[in-house]
Amino acid sequence: MSNKIELQLHKCTRVLSKFSTCDKCITSCPTDAISLSENFPKIDTPSCIECGACVSICPTEAIDLDKFSPIETIFGVLESESATLDCKKNIPCLASLSPQNLVSMVILKDNNISANLSHCESCEIFGKVGDQIASQIEEANFLLEAFGNSGRVVVESGMAPEKEKSGISHERRAVLDSSIFRSRLESVTTETSKKIREKNLPDSRKLFLMALKRVDGENSHILDSGDISFFSQKRVTDSCTNCQICYRVCPSEALTSDYKSSYINFSPNLCLKCHLCHDVCEPDAIQLEDTFQLSKLLKGESQKLIEFDIGKCDECGTYFTKRDGKRVCYRCEIEEEEAMELWR
Ligand code: SF4
Ligand code: SF4
Repeated sequence: MSNKIELQLHKCTRVLSKFSTCDKCITSCPTDAISLSENFPKIDTPSCIECGACVSICPTEAIDLDKFSPIETIFGVLESESATLDCKKNIPCLASLSPQNLVSMVILKDNNISANLSHCESCEIFGKVGDQIASQIEEANFLLEAFGNSGRVVVESGMAPEKEKSGISHERRAVLDSSIFRSRLESVTTETSKKIREKNLPDSRKLFLMALKRVDGENSHILDSGDISFFSQKRVTDSCTNCQICYRVCPSEALTSDYKSSYINFSPNLCLKCHLCHDVCEPDAIQLEDTFQLSKLLKGESQKLIEFDIGKCDECGTYFTKRDGKRVCYRCEIEEEEAMELWR
Protein backbone atom coordinates (compact mmCIF):
# COMPACT_ATOMS: atom_id res chain seq x y z
CA MET A 1 0.00 0.00 0.00
CA SER A 2 1.60 3.23 -1.11
CA ASN A 3 2.09 5.89 1.53
CA LYS A 4 2.44 9.08 -0.49
CA ILE A 5 4.74 11.81 0.79
CA GLU A 6 3.47 15.38 0.75
CA LEU A 7 5.23 18.64 1.45
CA GLN A 8 3.03 21.45 2.75
CA LEU A 9 5.35 24.19 1.64
CA HIS A 10 3.44 26.96 3.46
CA LYS A 11 4.51 25.41 6.79
CA CYS A 12 8.20 25.15 5.88
CA THR A 13 10.49 27.69 7.58
CA ARG A 14 12.16 28.32 4.22
CA VAL A 15 8.89 29.80 2.97
CA LEU A 16 8.47 31.91 6.09
CA SER A 17 11.86 33.52 5.44
CA LYS A 18 14.49 33.33 2.74
CA PHE A 19 17.07 33.43 5.55
CA SER A 20 16.00 30.07 7.01
CA THR A 21 18.89 27.62 7.11
CA CYS A 22 16.80 24.55 7.97
CA ASP A 23 17.83 21.45 6.04
CA LYS A 24 16.73 18.79 8.52
CA CYS A 25 14.50 16.94 6.04
CA ILE A 26 17.25 16.92 3.45
CA THR A 27 19.94 15.52 5.75
CA SER A 28 17.60 12.94 7.32
CA CYS A 29 16.45 11.34 4.05
CA PRO A 30 18.22 7.98 3.56
CA THR A 31 17.67 7.98 -0.22
CA ASP A 32 18.48 11.64 -0.96
CA ALA A 33 14.92 12.10 -2.22
CA ILE A 34 14.78 15.66 -0.85
CA SER A 35 16.91 18.45 -2.23
CA LEU A 36 16.85 22.23 -2.40
CA SER A 37 15.35 23.84 -5.46
CA GLU A 38 15.53 27.65 -5.54
CA ASN A 39 16.01 27.62 -1.75
CA PHE A 40 12.92 25.45 -1.08
CA PRO A 41 12.86 21.71 -0.33
CA LYS A 42 11.66 19.58 -3.22
CA ILE A 43 10.76 15.89 -3.01
CA ASP A 44 11.56 13.45 -5.76
CA THR A 45 8.58 11.19 -5.06
CA PRO A 46 9.81 8.08 -6.96
CA SER A 47 12.99 8.06 -4.81
CA CYS A 48 11.01 8.26 -1.54
CA ILE A 49 10.78 4.93 0.30
CA GLU A 50 8.16 6.28 2.77
CA CYS A 51 10.21 5.69 5.93
CA GLY A 52 9.00 8.93 7.59
CA ALA A 53 12.46 10.03 8.84
CA CYS A 54 11.76 13.54 7.46
CA VAL A 55 8.26 13.57 8.99
CA SER A 56 9.60 13.20 12.53
CA ILE A 57 12.47 15.64 12.14
CA CYS A 58 10.63 18.59 10.55
CA PRO A 59 10.00 21.08 13.39
CA THR A 60 6.88 22.56 11.80
CA GLU A 61 5.20 19.34 10.56
CA ALA A 62 5.52 20.50 6.98
CA ILE A 63 5.92 16.93 5.68
CA ASP A 64 3.21 14.24 5.77
CA LEU A 65 2.79 10.68 4.67
CA ASP A 66 -0.83 10.31 3.61
CA LYS A 67 -1.34 6.95 5.35
CA PHE A 68 0.74 7.56 8.47
CA SER A 69 -0.01 10.04 11.21
CA PRO A 70 2.22 10.08 14.31
CA ILE A 71 -0.75 11.29 16.38
CA GLU A 72 -3.06 8.53 15.13
CA THR A 73 -0.31 6.00 15.83
CA ILE A 74 0.04 7.26 19.40
CA PHE A 75 -3.73 7.02 19.91
CA GLY A 76 -3.62 3.52 18.44
CA VAL A 77 -0.94 2.40 20.90
CA LEU A 78 -2.84 3.96 23.80
CA GLU A 79 -5.98 2.05 22.88
CA SER A 80 -4.13 -1.19 22.25
CA GLU A 81 -3.20 -3.77 24.91
CA SER A 82 0.23 -4.13 23.39
CA ALA A 83 2.65 -1.22 23.53
CA THR A 84 5.01 -2.13 20.73
CA LEU A 85 6.27 -0.03 17.85
CA ASP A 86 7.04 -2.24 14.92
CA CYS A 87 7.75 -1.30 11.29
CA LYS A 88 5.95 -4.45 10.13
CA LYS A 89 2.79 -3.52 11.99
CA ASN A 90 2.02 0.03 13.06
CA ILE A 91 4.74 2.44 11.83
CA PRO A 92 6.65 2.90 8.55
CA CYS A 93 10.02 2.91 10.40
CA LEU A 94 11.17 3.69 13.95
CA ALA A 95 12.71 6.89 12.56
CA SER A 96 9.18 8.21 11.89
CA LEU A 97 8.44 9.05 15.53
CA SER A 98 10.13 12.06 17.09
CA PRO A 99 11.41 12.22 20.69
CA GLN A 100 8.40 14.46 21.37
CA ASN A 101 6.03 11.73 20.07
CA LEU A 102 7.79 9.01 22.07
CA VAL A 103 7.71 10.99 25.33
CA SER A 104 3.99 11.81 24.86
CA MET A 105 3.23 8.16 24.16
CA VAL A 106 5.03 6.84 27.27
CA ILE A 107 3.51 9.47 29.58
CA LEU A 108 -0.05 8.96 28.28
CA LYS A 109 0.28 5.16 28.23
CA ASP A 110 1.71 5.34 31.76
CA ASN A 111 3.91 2.39 30.88
CA ASN A 112 6.97 1.36 28.93
CA ILE A 113 6.77 1.32 25.13
CA SER A 114 8.75 -1.32 23.24
CA ALA A 115 10.64 -0.43 20.08
CA ASN A 116 11.07 -3.56 18.01
CA LEU A 117 14.43 -3.32 16.28
CA SER A 118 14.54 -6.97 15.23
CA HIS A 119 13.88 -6.09 11.57
CA CYS A 120 16.61 -3.45 11.46
CA GLU A 121 19.49 -5.91 10.95
CA SER A 122 18.18 -6.93 7.54
CA CYS A 123 16.93 -3.46 6.56
CA GLU A 124 18.90 -1.76 3.82
CA ILE A 125 18.28 1.79 5.09
CA PHE A 126 19.21 1.11 8.72
CA GLY A 127 22.79 2.24 8.08
CA LYS A 128 21.41 5.67 7.14
CA VAL A 129 18.58 6.08 9.70
CA GLY A 130 20.09 4.06 12.57
CA ASP A 131 21.71 7.09 14.20
CA GLN A 132 18.49 9.09 13.98
CA ILE A 133 16.52 6.23 15.58
CA ALA A 134 19.10 5.83 18.37
CA SER A 135 19.28 9.54 19.16
CA GLN A 136 15.46 9.93 19.13
CA ILE A 137 15.02 7.06 21.59
CA GLU A 138 17.93 8.27 23.72
CA GLU A 139 16.54 11.81 23.91
CA ALA A 140 13.05 10.52 24.80
CA ASN A 141 14.42 8.39 27.65
CA PHE A 142 16.65 11.23 28.86
CA LEU A 143 13.61 13.53 29.09
CA LEU A 144 11.40 10.89 30.71
CA GLU A 145 14.03 10.42 33.40
CA ALA A 146 14.30 14.20 33.89
CA PHE A 147 10.48 14.40 34.21
CA GLY A 148 10.66 11.77 36.96
CA ASN A 149 8.57 9.38 34.85
CA SER A 150 9.28 5.67 35.40
CA GLY A 151 8.24 4.68 31.84
CA ARG A 152 10.81 4.29 29.08
CA VAL A 153 11.13 3.42 25.42
CA VAL A 154 12.61 -0.07 25.68
CA VAL A 155 14.63 -1.35 22.74
CA GLU A 156 13.80 -4.95 21.90
CA SER A 157 16.32 -6.09 19.32
CA GLY A 158 15.64 -9.83 19.51
CA MET A 159 11.85 -9.71 19.27
CA ALA A 160 10.37 -12.32 17.03
CA PRO A 161 7.93 -10.78 14.58
CA GLU A 162 4.38 -11.71 15.52
CA LYS A 163 2.22 -13.41 12.92
CA GLU A 164 -0.75 -11.44 11.85
CA LYS A 165 -3.86 -13.52 12.43
CA SER A 166 -6.66 -12.07 10.35
CA GLY A 167 -4.79 -9.91 7.87
CA ILE A 168 -5.09 -6.87 10.12
CA SER A 169 -2.99 -6.66 13.27
CA HIS A 170 -4.25 -5.64 16.69
CA GLU A 171 -2.36 -2.35 16.59
CA ARG A 172 -3.51 -1.49 13.09
CA ARG A 173 -7.11 -2.09 14.12
CA ALA A 174 -6.57 0.13 17.14
CA VAL A 175 -5.22 2.84 14.86
CA LEU A 176 -8.41 2.64 12.81
CA ASP A 177 -10.49 2.91 15.99
CA SER A 178 -8.45 5.80 17.30
CA SER A 179 -11.10 8.36 16.35
CA ILE A 180 -12.88 7.21 19.52
CA PHE A 181 -9.86 8.15 21.58
CA ARG A 182 -9.44 11.41 19.70
CA SER A 183 -13.02 12.46 20.35
CA ARG A 184 -12.48 11.62 24.03
CA LEU A 185 -9.48 13.92 24.07
CA GLU A 186 -11.43 16.59 22.21
CA SER A 187 -14.11 16.45 24.89
CA VAL A 188 -11.63 17.57 27.57
CA THR A 189 -12.98 21.04 28.16
CA THR A 190 -10.75 22.47 30.87
CA GLU A 191 -9.63 26.00 30.09
CA THR A 192 -5.95 25.10 29.57
CA SER A 193 -6.72 22.13 27.30
CA LYS A 194 -8.98 24.37 25.25
CA LYS A 195 -6.25 26.97 24.93
CA ILE A 196 -3.74 24.32 23.78
CA ARG A 197 -6.16 22.99 21.15
CA GLU A 198 -6.85 26.45 19.78
CA LYS A 199 -3.19 27.39 19.45
CA ASN A 200 -1.45 27.54 16.11
CA LEU A 201 0.86 24.63 16.94
CA PRO A 202 1.85 21.37 15.25
CA ASP A 203 -0.36 18.47 16.45
CA SER A 204 2.62 16.68 18.01
CA ARG A 205 3.31 19.71 20.23
CA LYS A 206 -0.36 19.97 21.23
CA LEU A 207 -0.36 16.35 22.35
CA PHE A 208 2.97 16.81 24.13
CA LEU A 209 1.57 19.77 26.11
CA MET A 210 -1.47 17.68 27.03
CA ALA A 211 0.83 14.85 28.19
CA LEU A 212 2.93 17.26 30.27
CA LYS A 213 -0.10 17.96 32.44
CA ARG A 214 0.56 14.55 34.01
CA VAL A 215 4.10 15.52 34.98
CA ASP A 216 4.90 17.14 38.34
CA GLY A 217 5.65 20.82 37.64
CA GLU A 218 7.80 21.19 40.79
CA ASN A 219 10.85 19.95 38.97
CA SER A 220 14.23 21.43 39.77
CA HIS A 221 16.10 19.78 36.88
CA ILE A 222 18.34 22.00 34.80
CA LEU A 223 19.20 20.45 31.44
CA ASP A 224 21.93 21.16 28.94
CA SER A 225 20.19 22.87 25.96
CA GLY A 226 22.20 20.82 23.50
CA ASP A 227 20.53 17.63 24.78
CA ILE A 228 17.07 18.75 23.63
CA SER A 229 16.07 18.93 19.98
CA PHE A 230 12.54 20.30 20.12
CA PHE A 231 12.30 23.18 22.59
CA SER A 232 14.72 25.80 23.83
CA GLN A 233 15.44 28.67 26.15
CA LYS A 234 16.51 32.02 24.66
CA ARG A 235 18.08 35.28 25.67
CA VAL A 236 18.27 38.60 23.79
CA THR A 237 21.41 40.71 23.97
CA ASP A 238 21.71 44.50 23.99
CA SER A 239 22.55 44.47 20.29
CA CYS A 240 18.81 43.96 19.56
CA THR A 241 17.48 46.83 17.40
CA ASN A 242 13.78 45.95 17.93
CA CYS A 243 13.40 45.31 14.21
CA GLN A 244 10.44 43.01 15.15
CA ILE A 245 11.34 40.31 12.63
CA CYS A 246 11.93 37.43 15.08
CA TYR A 247 8.44 37.42 16.56
CA ARG A 248 6.82 38.14 13.23
CA VAL A 249 8.32 35.01 11.63
CA CYS A 250 8.10 32.67 14.64
CA PRO A 251 5.73 29.92 13.39
CA SER A 252 4.41 28.93 16.82
CA GLU A 253 4.07 32.32 18.53
CA ALA A 254 6.70 31.33 21.07
CA LEU A 255 8.01 34.87 20.57
CA THR A 256 5.48 37.67 20.90
CA SER A 257 5.19 41.37 21.66
CA ASP A 258 2.45 43.92 22.32
CA TYR A 259 0.90 46.40 19.87
CA LYS A 260 3.56 49.00 20.74
CA SER A 261 6.41 46.47 20.23
CA SER A 262 7.63 47.44 23.70
CA TYR A 263 9.09 44.03 24.61
CA ILE A 264 9.91 40.54 23.32
CA ASN A 265 8.22 37.75 25.24
CA PHE A 266 9.24 34.08 25.03
CA SER A 267 7.30 30.91 25.92
CA PRO A 268 9.69 27.91 26.01
CA ASN A 269 6.86 25.36 25.82
CA LEU A 270 5.73 26.77 22.44
CA CYS A 271 9.21 26.91 20.89
CA LEU A 272 9.82 24.30 18.18
CA LYS A 273 13.58 24.92 18.06
CA CYS A 274 13.24 25.59 14.34
CA HIS A 275 16.09 28.15 14.51
CA LEU A 276 14.24 30.64 12.31
CA CYS A 277 14.43 33.52 14.81
CA HIS A 278 18.22 33.09 14.92
CA ASP A 279 18.48 32.91 11.14
CA VAL A 280 16.62 36.20 10.60
CA CYS A 281 18.29 38.23 13.36
CA GLU A 282 20.91 40.38 11.65
CA PRO A 283 22.80 41.54 14.76
CA ASP A 284 22.67 37.98 16.15
CA ALA A 285 20.92 39.34 19.25
CA ILE A 286 18.69 36.33 19.92
CA GLN A 287 20.68 33.47 21.35
CA LEU A 288 20.21 30.04 22.86
CA GLU A 289 20.78 29.73 26.59
CA ASP A 290 23.25 26.98 27.46
CA THR A 291 20.88 25.46 30.00
CA PHE A 292 17.17 24.89 30.35
CA GLN A 293 15.11 24.99 33.52
CA LEU A 294 12.56 22.20 33.19
CA SER A 295 10.00 23.78 35.53
CA LYS A 296 9.55 26.62 33.01
CA LEU A 297 8.41 24.11 30.40
CA LEU A 298 6.21 22.16 32.78
CA LYS A 299 4.50 25.23 34.23
CA GLY A 300 4.15 26.88 30.81
CA GLU A 301 5.89 30.01 32.06
CA SER A 302 6.86 32.77 29.68
CA GLN A 303 9.35 35.56 30.25
CA LYS A 304 10.22 38.99 28.90
CA LEU A 305 13.58 38.67 27.15
CA ILE A 306 13.98 42.41 26.63
CA GLU A 307 12.01 45.65 27.11
CA PHE A 308 12.28 48.84 25.06
CA ASP A 309 11.72 52.53 25.74
CA ILE A 310 8.78 53.25 23.45
CA GLY A 311 7.36 56.68 22.63
CA LYS A 312 5.01 58.35 20.12
CA CYS A 313 6.67 60.03 17.18
CA ASP A 314 6.16 63.83 17.35
CA GLU A 315 5.55 63.89 13.58
CA CYS A 316 3.40 60.89 12.63
CA GLY A 317 2.16 59.68 16.02
CA THR A 318 3.26 56.05 15.59
CA TYR A 319 5.07 54.19 18.36
CA PHE A 320 8.82 53.81 17.92
CA THR A 321 11.84 52.70 19.92
CA LYS A 322 13.38 55.80 21.48
CA ARG A 323 17.14 56.03 21.27
CA ASP A 324 19.59 58.83 21.96
CA GLY A 325 16.77 61.17 23.09
CA LYS A 326 15.19 61.28 19.60
CA ARG A 327 11.55 62.48 19.41
CA VAL A 328 10.73 61.38 15.84
CA CYS A 329 10.70 57.86 14.37
CA TYR A 330 13.29 56.61 11.90
CA ARG A 331 10.98 57.03 8.89
CA CYS A 332 10.09 60.67 9.75
CA GLU A 333 13.76 61.38 10.43
CA ILE A 334 14.62 60.24 6.89
CA GLU A 335 11.75 62.29 5.41
CA GLU A 336 12.92 65.38 7.32
CA GLU A 337 16.45 64.92 5.97
CA GLU A 338 15.13 64.52 2.41
CA ALA A 339 13.02 67.71 2.75
CA MET A 340 16.04 69.63 4.02
CA GLU A 341 18.03 68.42 1.00
CA LEU A 342 15.40 69.94 -1.31
CA TRP A 343 15.84 73.40 0.28
CA ARG A 344 19.62 73.38 0.13
S1 SF4 B 1 12.64 20.10 7.82
FE1 SF4 B 1 10.63 21.10 7.54
S2 SF4 B 1 11.01 23.30 7.94
FE2 SF4 B 1 13.03 22.32 7.58
S3 SF4 B 1 13.44 22.59 5.35
FE3 SF4 B 1 12.45 20.57 5.61
S4 SF4 B 1 10.23 20.99 5.30
FE4 SF4 B 1 11.23 22.97 5.71
S1 SF4 C 1 11.21 31.00 19.15
FE1 SF4 C 1 12.62 30.84 17.38
S2 SF4 C 1 13.28 28.69 17.38
FE2 SF4 C 1 11.43 28.81 18.67
S3 SF4 C 1 9.70 28.35 17.29
FE3 SF4 C 1 9.93 30.59 17.32
S4 SF4 C 1 11.26 31.06 15.56
FE4 SF4 C 1 11.48 28.83 15.98
